[in-house]
Amino acid sequence: MWKLPAGAEFVLRRLHDAGYQAYVVGGCVRDTLLGKAPKDWDVCTNALPHEMQRVFADCHVIETGLQHGTLTVMYHHEPFEVTTFRVDGEYTDHRHPDEVIFVADVRDDLSRRDFTVNAMAWNPEVGVVDAFGGQEDLAAGVIRCVGEPEKRFGEDALRIMRALRFASTYGFAIDPATDAAIHALKHTLRDVAAERIRVELAKLLCGDGAGDILRAYRDVIFTLFPALAAMEGFDQRTRHHLWDVWEHTVRAVEMVPASETLRLAMLLHDCGKIAAFSVDDQGEGHAYGHEEQSVRIAEKVLAELRMDNATRDRVLLLIGCHGWPVTPERRLLKRRLNQLGEEALRQLIEVKRADALATGTKDPAAVESHRSATLSALDALLSEKPCVTLREMAVNGRDVMALGAKGRAVGETLQWLLEQVLDDALPNERDVLLETARAHLGA
Ligand code: ATP
Ligand code: MG
Repeated sequence: MWKLPAGAEFVLRRLHDAGYQAYVVGGCVRDTLLGKAPKDWDVCTNALPHEMQRVFADCHVIETGLQHGTLTVMYHHEPFEVTTFRVDGEYTDHRHPDEVIFVADVRDDLSRRDFTVNAMAWNPEVGVVDAFGGQEDLAAGVIRCVGEPEKRFGEDALRIMRALRFASTYGFAIDPATDAAIHALKHTLRDVAAERIRVELAKLLCGDGAGDILRAYRDVIFTLFPALAAMEGFDQRTRHHLWDVWEHTVRAVEMVPASETLRLAMLLHDCGKIAAFSVDDQGEGHAYGHEEQSVRIAEKVLAELRMDNATRDRVLLLIGCHGWPVTPERRLLKRRLNQLGEEALRQLIEVKRADALATGTKDPAAVESHRSATLSALDALLSEKPCVTLREMAVNGRDVMALGAKGRAVGETLQWLLEQVLDDALPNERDVLLETARAHLGA
């Protein structure tokens, strides 16, 4: 079971041979016990920072966190974090300990960690050190704070998001006392840096249990993003939807592939429905133009999360066009490739599938076969290397100028030619395009 990477073995052995205690700790112990491949291997030790520096004096090390006791040892270009056993001092801001205190016993170090399943250490001499029932909670699938939940969330409110994240990604339940403290202290999340929230939210949304967590902890999500709260219980009054906007949203999140971009797009795609809502003479509800309203709200949410520009732009693009028809029809697909590019179009196909399945009123088999037919038609179209942008056209601005076009007429003529090519009214062949352009310009 314990197959450590060479770098982690090296770090443990070095410290051990120098007379110190050393353990791998945290996520790597949890994941190994679960039979999953750990993402990274962290080491903890009773060696003090200056002692660690001496032990690894001949290695390439990075001293980024030395005042908190962390040294990064590079082993064949792979980083391994080594941290002195420590406990955290007082927390006065729900975020950072005012100081860290180095300690001699690994159990004290484990006591500062967030959840029992994350508070285990291992080395080959001692085996698993599990002071808080982490193995039992792993076996039962429970996320439980180490110690008093209210106190632990009070120290660092990000732990609230981490609890939801681990519950979502591992499909674990949250222990009742921990659960109660999450609901009671959710407002303290507002003190946490957006960048830290974003990381945990993305992992939460991409977990297999995301839907269950969004349902059970919607109050936490609405505390973070009050603009989303109106979705809960909002009756769409239409035969096209079986559920309220929030339940539709949760189902759409569950049904889209697990990437941050797609899951955020589904979380936010209908948040503008309430603002755009109207009821017609027959009593039927409509949400005309809700895509734009959703984009407006989503922009604010993504700005609050300090989302990087590329992710933000893609999420907003997908929200804005989630109502566009996308069918196997060749000319329509060419048009969509022109508007979106291949990557975003493929994402839009997934968005539309999830949106349709999450209405609860569409035949799932029909939705799936529509998606497959659209993807097959797209693959067939792309294998022809179709011309869908100005750049791909067999003529360019210089060619059009040579025919006598000047100024704005150059761009307009090229765009007019592209429209013909997109519509399959003209082939993307140089001679044909030049001939047509000549006639169009009256040259
Ligand atoms: P992942 O597999 O996603 O990396 P992880 O549990 O390793 O999960 P990290 O953020 O890498 O998470 O943290 C490593 C360890 O440090 C955790 O397992 C936990 O023991 C401890 N830890 C991390 N963040 C906190 C926190 N906010 N409060 C208390 N302990 C924490
Ligand atoms: Mg980790």
